[in-house]
Amino acid sequence: MAMLYPWQQSSWQQFASLKQQQRIPHAILLTGVNGLGKNTFSQQITKSILCLSPRESQLACGQCHSCHVFDAGSHPDHIEIKPEETGKQIKIEQIRQLIEKQQLTPTVSKWKTVVISPAYSMNVNANNSLLKLLEEPQPNTLFVLITSKPEQTPITVKSRCQTFHLPAPPFSEALAWLVANSAYNADETTTNILKLAKGAPLAAIEMLDQQGAESYQQIEQDFNTMLTAYISPIELAANWQKYNLSQLMNQLQYSLQDRIVNNQLAIDKSPSLEHQNKRYWQIMDCIVDTTKLLSSPNNINKTLLIEDFIVSVMRLSDNAQ
Ligand SMILES: [Zn+2]
Repeated sequence: MAMLYPWQQSSWQQFASLKQQQRIPHAILLTGVNGLGKNTFSQQITKSILCLSPRESQLACGQCHSCHVFDAGSHPDHIEIKPEETGKQIKIEQIRQLIEKQQLTPTVSKWKTVVISPAYSMNVNANNSLLKLLEEPQPNTLFVLITSKPEQTPITVKSRCQTFHLPAPPFSEALAWLVANSAYNADETTTNILKLAKGAPLAAIEMLDQQGAESYQQIEQDFNTMLTAYISPIELAANWQKYNLSQLMNQLQYSLQDRIVNNQLAIDKSPSLEHQNKRYWQIMDCIVDTTKLLSSPNNINKTLLIEDFIVSVMRLSDNAQ
């Protein structure tokens, strides 16, 4: 069953109209924050391109030989490239193998499709290797590069792609969809977690499923303690290891942003808040640095990293004065 999320409809129209006019680009850069179903959308695009008798909406028919082998994950004209392990880089060898395969002509469909996800997992060498392919586009071949971090795609690669940006739905629609499609209510925690997920309903549901509302509140409480009193860095760092630490940092960042904005609004009445905001911005730098280290491909001791983070925050917070 072909499926598009409601917020993907207008992007699909954009694609369908290009397809109807036979103006399919050689490469698409599919962007948007995590949790909007970019992979699902890309699947619909490639399945539609490969389909032998697409519907009027340009969605794949789901019945033909191409659709059958696509659904079985064994379409000979379709290649998906992703890191061999989650969170690792896409290796240059993976792109080189692609170059060899590109010499072949399609067997089931009239087109060949290649999906690279996430595109930000390609290092400089892999990107350069891909660029060679994009510079000499083969007829009837479509590349789809999926990324939530388009700023990390080199401009040389970007300029060879047509960008399709999947926007998050308006917040109220996102919340309504989340409530209708999950077991969660539209309460304050759900609303905050949806904000944390940048308005992406699928990411919010995943966060609620994985971390849960209780974890969210616990982290808020821990952070509040760090900012106003003493908390043992060793104990807290050990406790936090059970969470997804990148998501946790994301939550702290949002929480701190709220505090900064609230201070800003009250600064006329209470000038000392300006000093507090200055320190909040320094704490924000700590969060950004820690987030970067957490996502670096190098092996790091996460417990030590979080201990350092907690110590730095407490040094900068109110109780350090
Ligand atoms: Zn079909």
